Amino acid sequence: MARYTGSVCRQCRREGAKLFLKGDRCYKDEKCPVVKRHTPPGQHGQARARKMSEYGTQLREKQKCRRAYGVSESQFRKYYDMATNMRGGLTGEHMLVLLERRLDNVVYRLGFGASRAQARQWITHGHILVDGKKVDIPSFLVKAGQKISVRNGSFDVEYFKTLREEGADKPIPKWLELEAANLSGTVAAMPQRDDIDLTIEEHLIVEFYSR
Ligand code: SF4
Repeated sequence: MARYTGSVCRQCRREGAKLFLKGDRCYKDEKCPVVKRHTPPGQHGQARARKMSEYGTQLREKQKCRRAYGVSESQFRKYYDMATNMRGGLTGEHMLVLLERRLDNVVYRLGFGASRAQARQWITHGHILVDGKKVDIPSFLVKAGQKISVRNGSFDVEYFKTLREEGADKPIPKWLELEAANLSGTVAAMPQRDDIDLTIEEHLIVEFYSR
């Protein structure tokens, strides 16, 4: 996947929304550029903020969601295709639930990573177990009943050491159960649309791909 190497805050400013890409700083509004400056980045940001076609609105919503979860265009399209083949319910909701079930997102939601990018790094570096076995694939989709934990041998990594001593400082979604002292969590149930706190209008994404 071609990795974006520029400023992550710039991505939030482009989408005009907090995408929580930078960890702790994102939770301090006084330090968040998207709260301080309301226009898209660049010389013509002001002009871009004014005009938006129907296509542009759909495209921006798709980009916002894709960037928030940190997946490539082809991966994102794959989730949409998977969602269209799922029975019952709404395609947009299925797609968001699939993204939410990604292991990197679950590690982030449990507070084991300050951002999804950091969670992805813990996974690829072999710090994360699923049901006691190492899984180093960030796109792994978790299922209800599975246990996600930090490998015991990684407890002396500074980040995990602090986490065990001070506990998580973010609320844990109700579909996950956290055992902070053991740095482990269980998927109590599959996430529902209401559990996903990102402000995404998923119907616009479905419209974008249905054009
Ligand atoms: Fe930067 Fe985080 Fe604010 Fe986004 S939400 S602009 S990544 S500080």
